[in-house]
Amino acid sequence: NVGYYNGTMGPLEEMTVPMGDRALYFGDGIYEATCVANRVPFALDDHLDRMYNSLRLLEIPFKMERDQVKAELQKVIDAAEDSPIHFLYWQISRGVAMRNHPFPTDAEPTLLIYVKPHTMKSMDKPYKLISMEDIRFKLCNIKTLNLIPSVLANQRAVEHGCDEAVLHRGSRVTECAHSNISILKDGVLQTAPTDELILPGITRKHLLALAKEHGISVLEKPFSMVELMNADEVIVTSSSALCMKAESIDGIPVGGKDPQRLKFLQDAYLEKFQRETQPK
Ligand code: PLP
Repeated sequence: NVGYYNGTMGPLEEMTVPMGDRALYFGDGIYEATCVANRVPFALDDHLDRMYNSLRLLEIPFKMERDQVKAELQKVIDAAEDSPIHFLYWQISRGVAMRNHPFPTDAEPTLLIYVKPHTMKSMDKPYKLISMEDIRFKLCNIKTLNLIPSVLANQRAVEHGCDEAVLHRGSRVTECAHSNISILKDGVLQTAPTDELILPGITRKHLLALAKEHGISVLEKPFSMVELMNADEVIVTSSSALCMKAESIDGIPVGGKDPQRLKFLQDAYLEKFQRETQPK
């Protein structure tokens, strides 16, 4: 496990951050995460596009150019112990300053990175989900460090023997605590549109592209809890677990009615992941 903070690298367990880092007081920063195979991070440019967009929306004046960010990330990846798959996490905070809500005038944004060995879940093992009201704010399109509602939702999921929490605002399904959610219904892949209520997931994006590429219709339209419960298949996507199917929500069986199409999409995703992380 390797850690990095503003250019200093060392064993993750020994790394420290200054007390004034605004990530600590306000969650005033953004993050990104992806899986790495053969020391090649998957879909890195998509993650960097989203990173710069999150920074722009939070008005964090992070000056490092994309190629330099890539080089810093690679340095940490290359220093990690051997593993077939690694998990790469990085975050940028607004900087280090005395605690005060408005933006500090003289702080430089900080870059924190860590890499650790990772085991991907088998996509054959279905998720159990728990449903919960989405109590998050309306900046869900920004990958901010403010994750308390997601932390609470995932804790409830674990307490109920579930893998993820599916969130809804009233009847409308938004996403999961740390994943997007899509359904297959009558051969169509449906998922919520990217607005301020969901994170524009990279896995979601690639799944939709793969579906289109293979002639599966895609519908970006909100769906309800009732539609979710009656879907042919339920698919939960994230960078760390790729495309997982769900078998139950609140203990009620869901999906299982279009296994071939689901498996086809999962296989296509895994194939893309493997192809795009070939050793350089
Ligand atoms: N939605 C939320 C709230 C998340 O935190 C995440 C990932 O961390 C996702 C969706 C999935 O996004 P991605 O596929 O880019 O990992």
